[in-house]
Amino acid sequence: MAETRHTRVLIIGSGPAGYTAAVYASRAMLDPILVQGIQPGGQLTITTDVENWPGDTEVQGPDLMVRMEAHARAMGAEVISDHIASLDLSKRPFTAQGDGGTTYTADAVILCTGAQARWLGLPSEEKFKGFGVSACATCDGFFYRGKEIVVAGGGNTAVEEALFLTNFASKVTLVHRRDSLRAEKIMQDRLFKNPKIEVIWNHTVEEVLGATDPLGVTGVRIKDVDSGETREVPCAGFFVAIGHAPASELVRDQLETHMGGYVKVEPGTTRTSIPGVFAAGDLTDHVYRQAVTSAGMGCMAALDAERWLAEQD
Ligand code: FAD
Ligand code: NAP
Repeated sequence: MAETRHTRVLIIGSGPAGYTAAVYASRAMLDPILVQGIQPGGQLTITTDVENWPGDTEVQGPDLMVRMEAHARAMGAEVISDHIASLDLSKRPFTAQGDGGTTYTADAVILCTGAQARWLGLPSEEKFKGFGVSACATCDGFFYRGKEIVVAGGGNTAVEEALFLTNFASKVTLVHRRDSLRAEKIMQDRLFKNPKIEVIWNHTVEEVLGATDPLGVTGVRIKDVDSGETREVPCAGFFVAIGHAPASELVRDQLETHMGGYVKVEPGTTRTSIPGVFAAGDLTDHVYRQAVTSAGMGCMAALDAERWLAEQD
């Protein structure tokens, strides 16, 4: 049944930024509501080992996010399984419409909607999505046991995905558009030492090749960026790992954004261009994009919101 819920602080998103904001806002007695979205726990739920979360030499991404949710709930945050379809920041209280039929009104909003996987934008990529084309090795790697896989990208995600996929694949080919990787050195070291991985430098993926009956990938056509020559690399699975774009669709026409859609905040704060609206995590960060920095910004957003609300009172 449609209902309206009012809260002092509405937190949108359940990654490290959202849960940390919820912990701090709860401890400030603001009784926050956190709406999880369609990916409860955020991006870390689609990875395995996380080795740079302070206090845990190694922790599984999904486990860490379960703990963060439990922490937020234990501090008193109300965590709701819903997705915000639209947000009206033009007047106070701010209004958010949930897919589940609930309307949320809030004195302050903390946006923590993070980022989503970027795609190459090829028609053939779209055609085979879910039928050999994926952006999540932990979700889909299992389907390629004993088969050949191609991964596109040169950052931490691409290297991590390539390494993880060697658990299933007979061979993994990493195709990168430059002659050096952006990934951390320790990850590169592991990549180069892995006998199942071949790296093809200075090439882009031009097209995903496949069969239609049944629908499935048979290879990719790659192009040498210097000579323009093309060739085919056979594979059953093609994983796109070329970065992530900020999930700012909800607010793009309402808040100032920059650098291709990242929500702009006043330097050193989480204040956006609308008073009472704060942004944290990958949604606003085109530089660091880490779990720990997102959590740090979630903390800042809750403190900024608490101070702003106190000023209004
Ligand atoms: P996200 O984790 O992106 O979460 C966004 C949240 O917003 C989700 O819960 C989503 O459901 C919600 N949401 C979006 N839209 C809506 C909406 N309309 N309504 C409601 N909710 C919404 N970082 C590290 O530090 N170490 C690592 O080892 C590491 N490994 C990674 C591995 C992979 C494969 C990937 C993709 C990323 C990795 N990162 C790692 C980066 C890290 O995951 C991100 O920096 C971090 O998760 C960002 O947190 P966030 O809270 O900003 O948002
Ligand atoms: P990223 O660091 O932005 O790297 C994206 C990679 O894809 C780059 O190598 C880029 O090439 C390539 N690329 C981009 N667009 C392309 C296109 N159209 N065609 C071909 N290649 C393209 O993204 P990410 O690897 O997803 O990482 C995102 C953030 O999460 C980073 O801050 C990263 O550190 C973090 N993360 C951390 C870990 C970890 O700590 N273990 C794991 C995963 C992610 P160029 O290099 O030429 O630009």
